[in-house]
Amino acid sequence: MQNRRQFFKKSLLLTASGLLIGSRPLSGLAQDGDNKASKLTPPPDLFDAQVLDVDFWLKPRTLDLIRPASGERIKLLYWKDGDMLDSAYQQFCHLLRDVNGKKSAPIDPKLLETLWATQAFIARFGMTKPLEVLSGYRTPESNQRLREEGIPAARKSLHLEGRAADIRIGDLHEEVLGELIQSFKQGGVGFYFRASSKGGWIHTDTGLQRTWTG
Ligand SMILES: [Zn+2]
Repeated sequence: MQNRRQFFKKSLLLTASGLLIGSRPLSGLAQDGDNKASKLTPPPDLFDAQVLDVDFWLKPRTLDLIRPASGERIKLLYWKDGDMLDSAYQQFCHLLRDVNGKKSAPIDPKLLETLWATQAFIARFGMTKPLEVLSGYRTPESNQRLREEGIPAARKSLHLEGRAADIRIGDLHEEVLGELIQSFKQGGVGFYFRASSKGGWIHTDTGLQRTWTG
């Protein structure tokens, strides 16, 4: 079993390097808006959280989040020895606030766990960029405005309850990101593929396990 696991880890390491999107326009040098052709389509089980051992879940947890909308970034230890560190938790609740509605709300600790686990998992493959949060908590007014603007937002979205986030990670294909989050079996995962230079995003929530493409 150990050998098999070692082998699996090794092959993950080898293939993970191929997941980086080499042509993503980091400095505005993209030739055109559609770089979809250069994105790889990885096998769905390439990143599988079920290979994690119990140690992974027991270690202190540091989360590194950025809000492109406001330019804020927080990198903090927020969980240790089974306990949430309150000051850090409050700061992450603030970061995950409704940036437009200027209002924050308690964020489901399980959502923070999913964000952290995702980040900690891919960090094992040398990907250490902050996780970009496009949307966290939403006020009903903000959610309604998104709907009116034709941006995908469910009427009873879990964003309204502080139980959902829309995220991406620089250079990581959103399909890989979504498949990884799905493998944690923690809740819903929505795949939002977009052809823009920044690509799409992944919706993750702590509701029922389900997946969709939007
Ligand atoms: Zn969402």
